[in-house]
Amino acid sequence: MRKFLAILVCKLGRFVGKLIGKGSSMPGKAALKLCPDILSRVQLPPHIIAVTGSNGKTSTVEMIAAILRADGQRVVYNEEGSNQIEGVTTLILTNATMGGRVKADVLLIESDERYAAKSFRFFHPTEFVITNLYRDQLTRNGHPEWVYDAILPALHPDTKLLLNADDPLSSCFAEGRKAVKWFGLAPCASDLPAPGGVYHDGAYCPLCHAPMEYDYVHYNHIGSYRCTRCGHHKMETDYTATALDLENGVLTLDGNTTIQLAFCSIYNVYNILAAYAVCRECGVSGETIRQVINHYILKNGRMQTFTLGQRHGTLLTSKHENSIAYDTNLRYITSTREDCVVLVIVDAVSRKYFTSETSWLWDIDFDLLNCDHVKKVVLSGQYCNDLAERFSFTSLPADRWTVQPDIAAAAAELAESGSEELYVVTCFSDRDKFLSHVKKEG
Ligand SMILES: [Zn+2]
Repeated sequence: MRKFLAILVCKLGRFVGKLIGKGSSMPGKAALKLCPDILSRVQLPPHIIAVTGSNGKTSTVEMIAAILRADGQRVVYNEEGSNQIEGVTTLILTNATMGGRVKADVLLIESDERYAAKSFRFFHPTEFVITNLYRDQLTRNGHPEWVYDAILPALHPDTKLLLNADDPLSSCFAEGRKAVKWFGLAPCASDLPAPGGVYHDGAYCPLCHAPMEYDYVHYNHIGSYRCTRCGHHKMETDYTATALDLENGVLTLDGNTTIQLAFCSIYNVYNILAAYAVCRECGVSGETIRQVINHYILKNGRMQTFTLGQRHGTLLTSKHENSIAYDTNLRYITSTREDCVVLVIVDAVSRKYFTSETSWLWDIDFDLLNCDHVKKVVLSGQYCNDLAERFSFTSLPADRWTVQPDIAAAAAELAESGSEELYVVTCFSDRDKFLSHVKKEG
């Protein structure tokens, strides 16, 4: 009876919530109050895929859903990204019959990394993808090792792990486990011989704390690593990307599947690899995956293009408080080689809480913008002076960057001042404040 009631309340709550535009975690919260172990009482689909990690969760989940649906499978997933236990409960119960059977072949869950253990207390994924673990949202998540410890209890012994072989920290989840599949990127032209940037989170082995050595890195400390003491190293990959050519946007998967990238970022490559690996594990053919991923454009709008005056522009959305996300977008600008201007907006640090904590700006490698084709950088938003302080410590000449606190005024000045390509580097909480001043494309 309590189970029936919990499902009913959740479905009704979701229905009303949609009408009044409320988020998707409240109905699940109410259901959990009524029946705390409701998730152990429902009948789940044969495949339960979970995705967690610091970066790329939403994009990876979106791609996995598109591929599995193209393969004819019924997939339910948290499209609105409510990724803690309440949101997961809403997802499961709203897609269940009143008897508690989830009507799908695959339940696909984007899981918050810190709360994964809570979400998977009453059931466990058949496949668990962990994209990476980086420093991210310091005030909320602390250090990546702390997040590692938080994820560990969420990993059931029967769950198959799909891990990023190139990430020294998240690869440690394989310790003592048999069912592990590895994905990774083979050496490519854009590699660096060793980690650079303003900090080095892969300097010491996450297992024994001895110094690590690198054969190459694809970015930051992601690449081929080896511990000088315990031997922790990049594993042989089961799913491999080769022949990555970021300039021409081409990539080969497992030596036989060629992908044309809609967005030439190494980030996108890892999201594709993770989605490819788990879909192959679920029996999807390489050809089906190729057809879906070729030129795949993410629906979540991280790559919005627009026009502003004479300028064509691209919005590069990063997560605030996540320096690797920023670095990847800055590196993308560096790689474009055509004359451009860059607008960096930091107006709100977080969508969810107010801290005014800006130490993460010092982790971002803004020196990447010191290249000939970046003609000017404009700093804007409430935290433009924190940005200016950070920029005064970069190698960028002082006459190449300016400050305009008001986002509307910055957009107006850029609209009137030239025709070079414009890149806007900002986050989810601030992007709409800028997009309201431009003409969106696509
Ligand atoms: Zn070691």
